[in-house]
Amino acid sequence: MALKLPEARDRAALVSDVHTTVHLDLRSTEEYTVDATVRFSCAEPGASTFLELDGARDVTLDGQPAPYADGRIALDGLAASNEVRVTATLPYVTDGDGMTVTVDPADGERYVCAFTAMDIAHKVIPCFDQPDLKTTFTVSVTGPAHWTVLANGLAISQEREGEDGGARRFSFAPTPPISTYLFFVAAGPWVSETWEEPYEHAESGALPFGWHARASQERELRRDAAELRRITSTCFRWFTEAFDPPYAFDDYQQVFTPGLNWGAMEFPGCVAFRDQYLVQGAPTALQRQWLANTIAHEMAHMWFGDLVTMEWWQDTWLNESFADYMGYEVAALAAGYDDAWTTAALTRKPTGYRADLRRSTHRIAEDAEQLIDADTAFANFDMITYAKGNAVLRQLGTWLGEDFLAGVNRHLRSHAFGNATLADFLDALDAETDRDVRGWAEKWLRTTGFDTIEVTRRDWVPVLTRHGSRPHRFTVSAYDDHLRLVETRTVDLDDEPLVLEGLAGRVVVPNAGDETFVALRLDDHSWEVVTRHLSAMESSLTRAVLWWAVIDRVESHGSSLADLSALLGRHLRVERDPVIFESVLAAALRIARLYAAPEDLPAFFRSVEEVCHAALAEDEPALEPAALRALAGTTRDRDLLVRWLHGTALDQEVRWIAVRRLAELGDPSFIAAEEERDRSVSGHLAALAAHAAVPTPEAKAEAWARLMGGGLGNHELTAAAAGFWGWEQADLVAPYLDRYLVEGLALATASGQAMSQIIGRAFPYLPMTGAARQQLRDRLAEVLDGEVPTVLARTWNDALDDLDRALTGR
Ligand SMILES: [Zn+2]
Repeated sequence: MALKLPEARDRAALVSDVHTTVHLDLRSTEEYTVDATVRFSCAEPGASTFLELDGARDVTLDGQPAPYADGRIALDGLAASNEVRVTATLPYVTDGDGMTVTVDPADGERYVCAFTAMDIAHKVIPCFDQPDLKTTFTVSVTGPAHWTVLANGLAISQEREGEDGGARRFSFAPTPPISTYLFFVAAGPWVSETWEEPYEHAESGALPFGWHARASQERELRRDAAELRRITSTCFRWFTEAFDPPYAFDDYQQVFTPGLNWGAMEFPGCVAFRDQYLVQGAPTALQRQWLANTIAHEMAHMWFGDLVTMEWWQDTWLNESFADYMGYEVAALAAGYDDAWTTAALTRKPTGYRADLRRSTHRIAEDAEQLIDADTAFANFDMITYAKGNAVLRQLGTWLGEDFLAGVNRHLRSHAFGNATLADFLDALDAETDRDVRGWAEKWLRTTGFDTIEVTRRDWVPVLTRHGSRPHRFTVSAYDDHLRLVETRTVDLDDEPLVLEGLAGRVVVPNAGDETFVALRLDDHSWEVVTRHLSAMESSLTRAVLWWAVIDRVESHGSSLADLSALLGRHLRVERDPVIFESVLAAALRIARLYAAPEDLPAFFRSVEEVCHAALAEDEPALEPAALRALAGTTRDRDLLVRWLHGTALDQEVRWIAVRRLAELGDPSFIAAEEERDRSVSGHLAALAAHAAVPTPEAKAEAWARLMGGGLGNHELTAAAAGFWGWEQADLVAPYLDRYLVEGLALATASGQAMSQIIGRAFPYLPMTGAARQQLRDRLAEVLDGEVPTVLARTWNDALDDLDRALTGR
């Protein structure tokens, strides 16, 4: 039974001073056992409360069969101070929600990771599973002797166990008080890169730091170790200098885990990353930067989220928006990824704009009562929370200047090891600035949608007008008719239009530094010069802002896919910034999937091919990984792909894209050999996608049975679905569009939150005729009128909006 807000409030009033000791036995491959002791105080002796524990067997409470029903263990007749001991047996899972087991296909080794997050910790251990009942954790784990175990606390001992010494008991020091959703254990035969990181607040003057990966990823871990360490250390120095409260935990471990549903998760002292972050081949510019961003993002959470935590899920946005903002800011300022905000302009912010146009949009900061339970709150882990929240905090930082960081520090100091709300955050900012932050918050955080800034002319003098309700501070840049920079100003724009004196006749671009979250409408003259000279624009950040304006125009039917192809041919063809090159290509491919009819594809693919060939001909190493991937995934030149596969120069990821593309075009003969060659987890997933792409009715039927059979893990289902909806296969997969809605609904209904979202995201986005798209849209709307689980309904409603926008531009 999902915990409801009123229950959480009652329990928080009753329970305090919680300390938890947990022993996990992970030796069995069938199930695991937990033995937990929870000590806590009770404000009202004689009262009752409950621990949550989901899906357990053989549950005992203080040695007796426990009063256990609906995932709750009743605790009655409480004293002022209490100690209860719970033992239980629980299943492993493969959907990433809870004690996730993965067997590595490369070597048969088993990995077990306790992936908790909002409302999941009680699938792993008995606990008071709400963020404002923080507990210390003292953890020990028994596992096979050749394993290593990572957890929130500092590792303090390993002892042989069992008659033959075939097992080992790993013990960890107690953690400071943390929320239950941050509990973490990762066990398996990890390979490691460790070091002592200098830190003045540590007793010994240094803290243990480490990176860890599956044994079969050892080559990649060693290859990237120096860069991983460099980013970690530079970010750590930046945060410990910028933030007042010292780093709160005893060590900092980072582990590439298999089966994680998130990109990464900020477990205190031990961050989990998706193992896909450790790429097999040469990483693209975006992959490299995304890793740096994520390292900084998760480290920001050590303060924002882990040290100071929301009271209830409505303030999750503050954790995520802040960490997302810090991820880009610190990657740029500290880790050497100067173009992080250029990437954000083209890959992160667009997801925020799109999310804000959907019916599911919501205020960044919701009322607690809106998020009555965790299922509802889970759906809000969306791009309003991450991307829009990030952009809005960036605008707040621009608007407040140095007072912003001062306010953040006041907030962190005031609530360390505790919980805080939006009101607390605003109090802290208010104490540091003269500006009206509460009024600002009402307009920016408590109102949905975004403003438009329009450029008009009065006698050739540019005038900026805001359509909307929010105050903005941003740079506006002026250019000559060849898009050469003439002048840049910082301006404030509110209710009154702003006349840009002295810039008569100039091309002007508001928000040239991308400081605010806003749609741009340039005047005809500026737009004409921009489309003619875009690639000549010197600032890569402003170039990115304008490329986004181009893409947004196509998405809202202001121009066509053919117009976009023409701009790719003129400007992307000569683009040498790897981040812009890769981001614009990805955006164009996304538009083609969502908007194109089958007959549009040949011309569109030709333009992509030309752009990629031009980049490869430049012999520009930074462009090559992205150009190879895009080319391999879209070319119709089978001979080229076969030549590539017979050579040895391609990295493993491009090889798999080529194998899948050949399969998609009707030649599956390369799959088996590639599976033989690459037995890794990523190879296994790529093979699933390639098999699902084969364009015969038999292959599709087989792939479909696998997709909907209930036997696939989370990442397997994503991979197989990606292969199934092939670029040119609209006719072939037509019978499966309806089956996806019916059988996907049934599968999601029988699964949990995580799987529901994965099924929803496996939506058939592929080029099809307008009539087919309309039919899919209507059928989806019909299904959504019936009973659909919360998380799937949210994902599908977003798909409905995407289809509507593709059909009408709105
Ligand atoms: Zn985060």
